[in-house]
Amino acid sequence: MINDEIAKMLVEQINKELYSGYLYMEFANFYEEKKLPGFAHWFMVQAVEEYEHAMKIRDFLISAGRKVTLSAIDEPDNSSNKIGDPLYASLKHEQYITFSIYEIYEKALSVKDHLTAGFLNWFIKEQGEEEANAQELIKKFELIDGASGRGLHMLDRELVNRKND
Ligand code: MG
Repeated sequence: MINDEIAKMLVEQINKELYSGYLYMEFANFYEEKKLPGFAHWFMVQAVEEYEHAMKIRDFLISAGRKVTLSAIDEPDNSSNKIGDPLYASLKHEQYITFSIYEIYEKALSVKDHLTAGFLNWFIKEQGEEEANAQELIKKFELIDGASGRGLHMLDRELVNRKND
């Protein structure tokens, strides 16, 4: 049995995951404009994953017999200016999402809702991977940032290979 407060937090998390997808699609748009299709692809793969996260939480709530009502998704931040801006912004955003998952997890444990806590274990592991991916991309970018455009285009070609896992 999932209590009302946990259910509310999970519905809010659906919104945060959908916002994440929206944000990453906007980052992809930014890179399309910069003629960096590999970076754009990397963020589109990420956007699709966020949609899947939202659906996972929705499925969990539905199977627990809770009603799900969706709310408006905020306009994504589109203040990116420099090539690296979305990379730093996405790491910061994933850290915020991790914190949000932890809050629900800690609340679930505090009310002995082990069903939800167990469900969130997958998300905790996933967030570890999301942050590592974002950090790795920043590291690769910093190696070539400020160098010739050739390095940037080599990295862009590498990012085209990202698959949705
Ligand atoms: Mg997510």
